[in-house]
Amino acid sequence: MDFAVSQRLKALPPYLFIEIDKKKKAALERGVDLIDLGVGDPDLPTPKPILASLAKASLNPANHQYPLGQGLPAFRKTAADWFARRFGPRFDPNGEVLALIGSKEGIGHFPLAVMDPGQVGLIPDPGYPVYNAGTLFAGGEPVFMPLLEKNGYLPDFGKIPAAKLKRARVLWLNYPNNPTAATAPLSFFKEAVAFCRRHGIILAHDMAYSEVYYDGQAPHSVMEAPGAREVAIEFHSLSKTFNMTGWRVGFAVGRRDLVQALASVKGNLDSGVVSAIQEMGITGLNAPAALTAGIRKVYQERRDPFIAGLKQAGIKVKAPKAAFYVWARVPQGETSASFCGRLLDQAGIVATPGNGFGASGEGYFRMTLCAPKARLAQAVARIKALRG
Ligand SMILES: *Cc1c(COP(=O)(O)O)cnc(C)c1O
Repeated sequence: MDFAVSQRLKALPPYLFIEIDKKKKAALERGVDLIDLGVGDPDLPTPKPILASLAKASLNPANHQYPLGQGLPAFRKTAADWFARRFGPRFDPNGEVLALIGSKEGIGHFPLAVMDPGQVGLIPDPGYPVYNAGTLFAGGEPVFMPLLEKNGYLPDFGKIPAAKLKRARVLWLNYPNNPTAATAPLSFFKEAVAFCRRHGIILAHDMAYSEVYYDGQAPHSVMEAPGAREVAIEFHSLSKTFNMTGWRVGFAVGRRDLVQALASVKGNLDSGVVSAIQEMGITGLNAPAALTAGIRKVYQERRDPFIAGLKQAGIKVKAPKAAFYVWARVPQGETSASFCGRLLDQAGIVATPGNGFGASGEGYFRMTLCAPKARLAQAVARIKALRG
């Protein structure tokens, strides 16, 4: 019998990090002291008050039963209030706010809710791989929008081929951006909203890094652009904001029928977010501003010396304005794969090759700031030695 995987699964692009993963495993087996700057996952623990609310919520029998599909009313209200405080626009907790099992879950399922086979998903390149995978799972056609350094890593809508634009259903954006760490000015979001309204396209914005920013420059939500509520849905995550990647909680806000379409897909596939974990989310979103400010301070204190050190080592890099990534050019004569291979083999540093995020990422590599200052300083010393 042949239990080969589905066409749907076969259609996914090959996993480009295989080589790095192999080298990483081999290095660990050799006993190399690896500095892993590969995975975007906060190294800091979840804050204590958030953990305390989990302990308390676990004792409430109401939380032992199936969660409510769209999320606890208190979670949805807290998310709507947090959003209004942070960005201005107010969404109705009953219908315009949806709890997610991490924002990845909502992003991955959204195309199933709104796309039909043959419709086009416009996807940033380089980008988080889930926009592409979700589009393929829904039978949609991914069309990539290059994010170029000379354009500040913002897509040029004028370059989308007319024939593809005609069939476009969803435009994906992600600012602060993974992997480039770029942010978008409000003027760009206004342009994106106007473009989507003109062409009748859904605007799906992934804002997982809204609270991870530098120099006091808080990023904008797409919902701040006039008319956004008519075309947009925005995905938020508590993972990076509160060091909660392990707990799986996020939410979507936006146009009611888009939010409800996603809710219907979820209603048929999952049973919602663990209620006790939503209680953790409530505690996080209601926490004093000092909590996220403290987390930002840690990344800022890592970013500044790391960037300065990389520049001294001759690496072409700009300081990120947000997110916890450093996106840099590989040295002359190297490819993304060759340089990341050399970093691993000769310096014991795990970095991610830029082309793993899409063809336009070739020539770049990504490192995370998810390691203590001293470790990042060691990484700089090793890169200096490597480049000798
Ligand atoms: C980390 C990340 C997410 C997913 O976060 P969740 O843990 O699923 O909430 C979504 N988008 C981008 C760009 C990310 O880097």
